[in-house]
Amino acid sequence: MSKLISKRSFLKGFAAAAAGAAAAPLVHAKPGDPLPQKWDREADVVILGYGGAGASAAITAKDAGADVVIFEKCPQGGGNTAVSSGGMMIPNNRERAIEYLRKTYDFANSEKYDELLTAFVDEAMKSKDFLLSLAPDQKVYIYGHAGFQSIPESDAIDKWRFRTPKGQKTRGGDMLFNNYRYAVETVRKIPVVYNARGLELITRNDEVLGAWIEIDGKKEAVKAKKAVVLATGGYEFDDKMLSNHTMGQKFHRLGHPGNTGDGVRMAQAAGADLWHMNALSCPLGLVVPGLKTALQINMLAPSHIYVDQDGKRFVNEKMDNHTCIYGV
Ligand SMILES: Cc1cc2nc3c(=O)[nH]c(=O)nc-3n(C[C@H](O)[C@H](O)[C@H](O)COP(=O)(O)OP(=O)(O)OC[C@H]3O[C@@H](n4cnc5c(N)ncnc54)[C@H](O)[C@@H]3O)c2cc1C
Repeated sequence: MSKLISKRSFLKGFAAAAAGAAAAPLVHAKPGDPLPQKWDREADVVILGYGGAGASAAITAKDAGADVVIFEKCPQGGGNTAVSSGGMMIPNNRERAIEYLRKTYDFANSEKYDELLTAFVDEAMKSKDFLLSLAPDQKVYIYGHAGFQSIPESDAIDKWRFRTPKGQKTRGGDMLFNNYRYAVETVRKIPVVYNARGLELITRNDEVLGAWIEIDGKKEAVKAKKAVVLATGGYEFDDKMLSNHTMGQKFHRLGHPGNTGDGVRMAQAAGADLWHMNALSCPLGLVVPGLKTALQINMLAPSHIYVDQDGKRFVNEKMDNHTCIYGV
């Protein structure tokens, strides 16, 4: 973001944030100045990361009239969005959904921030229309409720996903990301640059002017005339961050190996504070030697028990398949 914005206005839609940000002034760097001598590329809105967040930001900014470019570190987009179950949590009752979310914070022993929760629920309630706008002839259906079913009011949030059309095999996150890809690349022709890793934000005082991005091995200065969006996912594939934020507990990672906390570090280097880093979604899973990611198990009791390699039972098989932890 070009200027400091409130969490609520950020959630109220990227378009509003981008429109409110001042255009970056021209840069006249002196020798020895950390600012770039010249800009290699430029766009109104520079998006780092091409998962669901990056794609949503790109669509919203483009529809608001901005010239947008997405930079993705890996040879293809999708991130965790494409490997997820593709379930979109959409509240069906505003007040009860807010209550449920408040309780998840209590469950995780985490501080609450009501303004953020309220903004999240208000915006999430619009997301079914957004999903259906991504690609033509799509259908969505409800297949469950919010993740922590032992917490009261979890049925105030429905879990929606795209129905797989007849004759196709894609489902879940794949299906979701295919629709994002269609909306970004086919409908809006937004350029996506692959093998392009965001390294750091280029800032002056409290303003973000652009980002240093390593593209096919070459470091380039990319100017953002209106905003840089950090949409680089989580940090589960960064050993140090995973260990620090879970107080040294040994968790195996589940998800996409591109997610190494780059955006978190970039934001911190630009002066951002961190919040809510110690509550994780932590499903039961299997570690398969040779696979970078663990595999999630979704089969809940009562029909069976799980045992470890010594034949010992180690888990409550009736638990929700997600668990929050705090300061373990
Ligand atoms: C197995 C699994 C199942 C899930 N199921 C659900 C579900 O059903 N419902 C739900 O709501 N959530 C689910 N989640 C969580 C959900 O997938 C994520 O919260 C969501 O996809 C995050 O989207 P994102 O765009 O922020 O990040 P991602 O989709 O992970 O995208 C981040 C992208 O940024 C790229 N990137 C990283 N660093 C850089 C850099 N320096 N420069 C440029 N690009 C970079 C990455 O390569 C990646 O492509 C699930 C997660 C997993 C792992």
